[in-house]
Amino acid sequence: MSSAERMGEGIGLDMAEDREDYILNKDHLFYWLRQLRKTAELIAPKRELSGEITFTTVVNIHDIALNYTAPILSTKHILFPQTDIMFKYSLKVPGKVQSTFNARKKVVFGVPSCGISALLIADRVFGNGYTDLYYFARRKNTIFVSIGCNNPLQTCFCYSLGTGPFLDHGFDIQLTDLGDRYFVQTGTDAGKTIIMQYRFLFDEADKEDYDDQYETMLTAQSKFEGRIDLELYRKKLENGQINEAFYEWTADRCFECGGCTYLCPLCLCFNIIDVEETAKSVTPEKSKDFLKTPSGERFRIWDSCMFAGFTKMAGGVNPHWNKKDRIKRWHYHKILYYPEKYNVFGCVGCGLCTITCPGKIDMANTVIRIKNL
Ligand code: SF4
Ligand code: SF4
Repeated sequence: MSSAERMGEGIGLDMAEDREDYILNKDHLFYWLRQLRKTAELIAPKRELSGEITFTTVVNIHDIALNYTAPILSTKHILFPQTDIMFKYSLKVPGKVQSTFNARKKVVFGVPSCGISALLIADRVFGNGYTDLYYFARRKNTIFVSIGCNNPLQTCFCYSLGTGPFLDHGFDIQLTDLGDRYFVQTGTDAGKTIIMQYRFLFDEADKEDYDDQYETMLTAQSKFEGRIDLELYRKKLENGQINEAFYEWTADRCFECGGCTYLCPLCLCFNIIDVEETAKSVTPEKSKDFLKTPSGERFRIWDSCMFAGFTKMAGGVNPHWNKKDRIKRWHYHKILYYPEKYNVFGCVGCGLCTITCPGKIDMANTVIRIKNL
């Protein structure tokens, strides 16, 4: 299956038939990335002045943060931006819109395994019964080079869910940092292609390289302390073992900041808004005409079920004014409804909600707490 055929499939990547493994000397990494940047936008982890890691378009190749632990922003905004212009309209020609969408070719370097796992699940969400053209146009034009996590943070629990710290599929290319070199695995034809273009930089992997990669993976796995058991949580929910008092306690600690949903790579809700060009932005001579034929842009923007207005309806009715009900719904969505619909949890154990939640009622802390309920 070709890369283009990802579009509309929703799930399933163009898995390379004969997967190949290579070695990339660390001295060659920036040269390779520079070459890739000539034909595609290169996005990579960058340490911001605040010290946090974000995925941003690379301007200076030496700004790429190679030894980062966890990015504060997941990769969801690359295929599903926080503010995404869908089209421009003008009532001069009612019903006619002008597309402004541009899915440039991108290479995203340095994605952690949980980020790749989240993409595979997001593919199902955006391809479920319909094809989200905006998402899949970007998806088919984007190549993901992941780096397995040698040093997971204490907040990470991907290993409990099988979504990291290393993967055996889903990536276009997966790198393992072996100290002086990278072990390079191809997962798709698209990944193989960008290696073949610069094949002279890559050496064949030998037995010692395979052994080192295996050892690195086992060592990383040994660094996870305890298991975050989402399956136990699911069973308790199904059996009605979590009482309302638990969600009341949770609601008391929630600031309604929305951080958990904005950072979560699997919170994919959005709203659609029209922003009209204002009369002020056109010249006085044209403003009379403008008022007769307004124009503007339609956007989709991230929304959050943690916000009180999320389910407010046109008549003013809101089935979820209550904070407790909203938190409960977030949990039910991730722990019950995702598995019912997609056969996976709506969580990959990235720990970003743990890092951000001021009330300490993130997914991991919740699951630890409900263990004894
Ligand atoms: S619920 Fe929390 S740990 Fe799970 S994927 Fe979302 S942000 Fe990551
Ligand atoms: S991050 Fe924590 S405090 Fe903020 S909305 Fe989410 S649960 Fe509430």
